[in-house]
Formats: sequence, C-alpha cells, structure tokens
Amino acid sequence: MSLGARRATVTTWIGDVPVGASVPIVVQSMTNTDTADATATAAQVAALARAGSQLVRVTVNNEGAAAAVPEIARRVADAGVHVPIVGDFHYNGHLLLAKYPACAAALAKYRINPGNVGGKRRDENFRTIVRLAVEHDKPVRIGVNWGSLDQDLLTQMMDENAMLPAPRTAKDVYIEAMLASALRSAELAEDVGLRHDQIVISAKVSGVQDLVEVYRRLAARCDYPLHLGLTEAGMGMKGIVASTAGLSILLAEGIGDTIRVSLTPKPNGDRTEEVLVAQQILQSLGLRSFAPQVTACPGCGRTTSTFFQHMAEDIQTYIREQMPVWRREHPGVEELKVAVMGCVVNGPGESKHANIGISLPGTFEEPKAPVYVDGALFTTLRGDAIVEDFLKILEDYVASRYVGAEASASSVSTAPSSSPMISPVNPTSRNRS
Ligand code: SF4
Repeated sequence: MSLGARRATVTTWIGDVPVGASVPIVVQSMTNTDTADATATAAQVAALARAGSQLVRVTVNNEGAAAAVPEIARRVADAGVHVPIVGDFHYNGHLLLAKYPACAAALAKYRINPGNVGGKRRDENFRTIVRLAVEHDKPVRIGVNWGSLDQDLLTQMMDENAMLPAPRTAKDVYIEAMLASALRSAELAEDVGLRHDQIVISAKVSGVQDLVEVYRRLAARCDYPLHLGLTEAGMGMKGIVASTAGLSILLAEGIGDTIRVSLTPKPNGDRTEEVLVAQQILQSLGLRSFAPQVTACPGCGRTTSTFFQHMAEDIQTYIREQMPVWRREHPGVEELKVAVMGCVVNGPGESKHANIGISLPGTFEEPKAPVYVDGALFTTLRGDAIVEDFLKILEDYVASRYVGAEASASSVSTAPSSSPMISPVNPTSRNRS
C-alpha cells in the first residue's frame, strides 16, 4: 500500500526547524518538570532532544516559569544540545510575554490555546500575544483542545444549530466549533500582523475516531502546517496504541506535519518514551528512518527456550548503544533491517528480506543458525558464541555498507554498496557442538 501524498502546506520555521509538507514530519515532545526549576527542566529538554525530539515544549504558567526560560535555554546550549524551545501558554500568556521579554525572545514559538486566553477580554488578550509574536518574529501554534474549547463560541454554534430545520448532531457541532475556533484565531492572528507562514494549527481530542474526523476537516480547509496528537492519550499500552491508531490513519492520508505522542508516564518514568514512540510510528509507516529495525518473530511452541528472545533483545540493545556513533560515522544506517527468527519455518525467508538475518534453531532442529546477508546465505553459526559472532558480522556490515563521505572519499574499494566487504566468521572456530 502506498501512502497518500503529503497535504500541501506552507512551511513554518520554528527556530531553525522547518515544519510543513516540503520537509520530513517533525517529532516533538513536552517536558513535565516545573519550568521554574531551570536545572531540572533544562536536563529534561536536553534528554528529550538527545532522544530525537526536534522541538521541545515547556509550560510557561507563571512568573517563575517565564523568568526561568532564558536560563533553561542557556543551560541546554551549554550542554551542547541545540533544540528550539516552545512555550505553552494558557490564561496569562499576554501578561507573561509582555513582562518577561527575555522569555519571549528565548522561545522559538508560542503555543496559544484560544479557549484559554481570558473570558470577556479574549480577543484583546489573543491580539496582545500575537503582537508580541510579531515583535519578536516568532511563529505561534494555535492549539485548540477538546477539553478547553471556547465555550462562548460553542454555545453560539449550538444555539444556531438548534434553529436549523434539520439540526446536526451535537458532536458534529462540537467538531465544527473546534475548527471555527482554530481558523478564526488564525485569521485574527494574520489581521494583527503575523505572516501566514508563521502559524501552525492543532485541534486535539482524546478519541481516535474524533481525531481523524477533526483533522480530515481541518486539512481540507487550510494550508497551515498541522500539529497532530491525541490529547490525554493515556498511560502505557493504551496511550501508545491509541496514539498509533489515530496518527497512523491521518499520516497515511498525508495529513500531519509535526507529531507529539502525549503519553502519561509512570511515576518517575522516562519521559523520552513519547519521543521513541513518535519515531517508531513514523518509521513503521515508512515516513522516516531513525534507527535500524530489528524484526523478531514472536516465538511459539517450536521454540521452547528463551534463547532467541534474549538474542533479539541483546541485538536491539547493542544497536541502540551503537547508534550515537553509527549515526555520526555511518550515515544511512538508520535504514538497516535486522531479522532474528526463532526457527526454520519463517526464519530463512524473513532473514532474506532483511539486510542481515539469523534463523536460530527451533526445538529438535539441528543446533545451527544460518546467517543471511542481503538475501544470500552468508555463513552458518554454531556453538555458544552465536550472539557475539552475529554482532561481529553486523558490525562489519555496518562499517562496510554505510560509509561516511570522508571514509568513502579515501576508500579504494570498488565494491558496490549492496555488496559489503565482510568475511564470514569461521563458524568452526567457536564450535562446541
Ligand atoms: S519463526 Fe518459528 S519459532 Fe518463530 S513464530 Fe514462526 S514458527 Fe514459531
């Protein structure tokens, strides 16, 4: 199945990160530290960026947070990490951005929720934030949320709907109110002076089907880049599966220019999980490549030991640990595919589809593990050192196949890139069987 073409959009620059249809989909995340704690927040921003988050949002909810933002940006830069920091504003953004110009300058984008900019003075407060964005030459995200929709607008639209000869469903009106809130706010922002290409829009809900409906309609009505995400996705498996389901449908239709997976972490859990999930969604859909993929069979009654599960985990861990170096020295390695299979039933076939695959012996099978490289039998491993031998083959393959520009220029090899210059390990040298 081929995915739909990306929906045409303008390109919005968030710091030096472009967002829009002409560039790969951007992964972003948000901290959950107290922003006023510059040390903890800077550490988490850096961790999220190192995990692959291209934009990191921090809440700017009070004066302490606004005052800390420049310090956070400094500390992140001092840690050798470069990532645009986005400020999330609700209720008092117009006051904080005006009172803390260093905060306004340090942020790469302001997120405004039109439902949370103040009651009677809503438009006035909204205009103030936009004027400050114009003054500091910053883009904004107009981020409408199901849980904080502009109630005046919703009531007005519900009343108008009730007067119709054939009223639409309440849910339909709710969705339309979300879209109206986002698009009217974007229009207002442009009236105030923000450029058309300085606006990103999101309209988040917590249900998968609603998310798809909201974004399909939104995509059809504007050419602003869209920030996709399921709000309050939830914890653990539920959050991951729901986010994957909702985002995948839209991404497959070409809708979405930047994504965030809003997972609720376990207490003291690793916040970077949401970045890895977002990357995996994009990589599983073939939209971007972030890390080599290990295909492992689930195992069944033909594998009565856990050896292959351990091996799959060892290989996955090894790859993850090598990636900081591999990414730098072996460009393109992100597209490597490795297969670790439990027995002869699907092992050879799946292994041949990978760049490197190993088919381990199932129960009652002869204790040998054929290794395939680029679809051809490369060697057969035996004995207790199968994992080490396999990792050596993997390392050699990466070194010879993904050659950096520098190494490539100095190389005298004429071997085609599809024929890595690796030698089979001597399977008998470590044989114990
Ligand atoms: S490859 Fe073999 S061990 Fe793995 S699931 Fe299939 S039959 Fe079972």
